Amino acid sequence: MSVQKFFSPEDVPIQRVQFAGLIFDILRLDKIHQGASGNKFFKLKYNFIEAEKNGYKKILTFGGAFSNHIVATAISAKSSGFKSIGIIRGEKVNNPSLKLAQKYGMELHFIDREDYRKKETDDFLDELKRKYDNPFIIPEGGTNDLALNGTAEIHNFIPEHYNLITACFGTGGTLAGLIEGKSDHQKVLGVSVLKGDWVKDELKNLVGKNNDNWNLTTNYHFGGYAKWKHELIDFITEFYEKTGVPLDPVYTGKMMYGLMMEWKKDNISSDDHILAIHSGGLQGIAGFNERFGFNLAER
Ligand SMILES: *Cc1c(COP(=O)(O)O)cnc(C)c1O
Repeated sequence: MSVQKFFSPEDVPIQRVQFAGLIFDILRLDKIHQGASGNKFFKLKYNFIEAEKNGYKKILTFGGAFSNHIVATAISAKSSGFKSIGIIRGEKVNNPSLKLAQKYGMELHFIDREDYRKKETDDFLDELKRKYDNPFIIPEGGTNDLALNGTAEIHNFIPEHYNLITACFGTGGTLAGLIEGKSDHQKVLGVSVLKGDWVKDELKNLVGKNNDNWNLTTNYHFGGYAKWKHELIDFITEFYEKTGVPLDPVYTGKMMYGLMMEWKKDNISSDDHILAIHSGGLQGIAGFNERFGFNLAER
């Protein structure tokens, strides 16, 4: 399939749900392509178009062993005619995420954490280019200028009448695009999945000065990136039972929990037309269940 075709979804479902007395809608980006689903698909789009335009045959990127970005890159590459290479942080392991990446033809290379930290230096990138025959390199998590062009296009699937759009913050590429692409009457509420207030400056830098009417809450990280508590697991389980929508414990579970808490704290009005962005990440649930012995719905 051509790059343009693969990255042009025709439609994304919007699902109405009711939970804890709040009626709102969810944009199911997780439904776009199994695994390459969610926000990563939008972040990759213009990177792949750029790679094709410049004649690259291979895509190389970085990630941890459970990375949604790694899996999304593998599926996107396979589906649009590229080879792919994943540089994975840490010791060689196998898990459902990496198996999926390999199933889509990704060549995996494990590097120790010290080398991994060099991944943005010119010397290291030059070495990778030589070693792997000049691949197109996409940064960890996929956030770069090209990514923001893609995440702004999530608005193509957001009807204008929504005035409150909520999504999670990992590196900020998704929220920045949503903020850049929104109309004046729309407000964006971000929920950080990382610990610390520094994320607010990070997002401010990404969106530039001219964009306001957004807020990023940092109260729902459950201890930090990929950290969790039983309260979060119980919430995800109950949300699935009541709505049929699966959430993952690293990203969308925290976003939805944050939205519900803001509603309980009266920071959200029932007059708001709310659209929560389901940014995907469901592929990671199998590995989470396997590691910690849970039974969270995987789709
Ligand atoms: C990567 C990811 C995010 C975070 O997106 P950023 O653009 O890095 O902020 C959110 N949700 C899911 C499911 C992800 O995989």
